Amino acid sequence: MEQKILTIRMPAQDQFSIRKNVLRASHGKPTARAAVVSGIHGDELEGLYTIYLLNRYLQEMREKRPEIFRGQVDFYPTVNSLGLGSLNRSWPFFNVDLNRQFPGNREGHVPLQAAHALLEDLQDADLVVDIHASNKFLLEMPQIRMQEVYAPKLLPLAEKSNVDFVWVHGSSSVLETTLATNLNETGIPTLVVEMGIGQRLTPAYSDQLLQGLLRLLCHLEIIDLPEEELPVLRPPRIIRDHEVWYFNAEASGLFVPEPNVFGEWIREGDVIGKIVDPLKGSDLQVIASPRDGRLFTLREHPVVYEGSLLARLVLQPADMDEGEVARDDA
Ligand SMILES: [Zn+2]
Repeated sequence: MEQKILTIRMPAQDQFSIRKNVLRASHGKPTARAAVVSGIHGDELEGLYTIYLLNRYLQEMREKRPEIFRGQVDFYPTVNSLGLGSLNRSWPFFNVDLNRQFPGNREGHVPLQAAHALLEDLQDADLVVDIHASNKFLLEMPQIRMQEVYAPKLLPLAEKSNVDFVWVHGSSSVLETTLATNLNETGIPTLVVEMGIGQRLTPAYSDQLLQGLLRLLCHLEIIDLPEEELPVLRPPRIIRDHEVWYFNAEASGLFVPEPNVFGEWIREGDVIGKIVDPLKGSDLQVIASPRDGRLFTLREHPVVYEGSLLARLVLQPADMDEGEVARDDA
C-alpha cells in the first residue's frame, strides 16, 4: 500500500511527496513493524536497490505463503527524491544535508519539514535500517556504523545483518542531528548501513544485505521462515576507532590504486596505489601500507587534493594467526 508521508507545494504549483510502501500481514494484527529507509542522500542508490530486492521478495512471500508473513515492513526508498532526480547529495535549492536536519520542524523550511515527517512516521517502529552508500568518492565494503553508547542494544542486531564489519565509534556532536541518533535516542533501534559507492549500484552488496535483513525480520517475528530456509551468515568483524588506519593524500594529483587491493588483506610495505602528476610525468606519492590489515575503504574518484582520504585499513587483530588470514582470503 503506497502512502505519502509529506506533500509539499512546489513554487510552480506542482506538488512533491515523500512516499512509502507498507507491506502488512494479510490477516491479524502485525507482530512487529520494521522500516527500511534509503535515499536520505540523493546521490546514494545502493539502498534503493536493496529495498527493491526485499520488497519484491516479501510481496511474493505474502502472496504465495501468507501464513509466514506476519508483521509489517515499511519501505522509504527515496526520502530525498528531489536530490535523487538531480543527482544531488543535499536537498536541492536549500543545499542542506537532510541527515543533519533531524529532529526537523513542522514549521521550518522544506528539508526540516521532511525530517520532521519522517521521524514522526517512524515513531512506532520496532527496528529501522537506514541504508547509505558512502559518497561518489569512496567505495566501502558493507558495514554498519554505530555510536558506542548504543552498542549494547544495537550490536546483537548488527551481528545478524550479514555485513562484513560493524564499526563502533565514539560519540560526535555532528551525529546529534542524524535520523539514526534521533531514533536511537528515543529507544527505536536504528542500524546505519554504509556500503558501496555513491551514484552507482553494487548489486552483490545488496544481495548480501538482503540475506541479513531476512534474518533480522525473522528475529522480530515479522516473517516466520523455517530455520532450514534461513541464510547461514558469517558474523561481522567488530572494529573500534583505534583499529582503523587512514591513508590520506600527501599531494594533489591523480590517485591510481593498485588493482585488486580493495577488500584484500594487505601486508606491511605493500603498495596500494600512487598519486601521479600528468604534467611532469612523475609520481608524487607512492602509498605503501605501514601495517597489516584489510582494505575496506578505497577511493574510486581519482582527483585528489592534499589531505583527501584515499583508503582505510582495518588492522589485523594481534591474536589472528596466518591461517585465519588465508581462510578469509578464500
Ligand atoms: Zn548517506
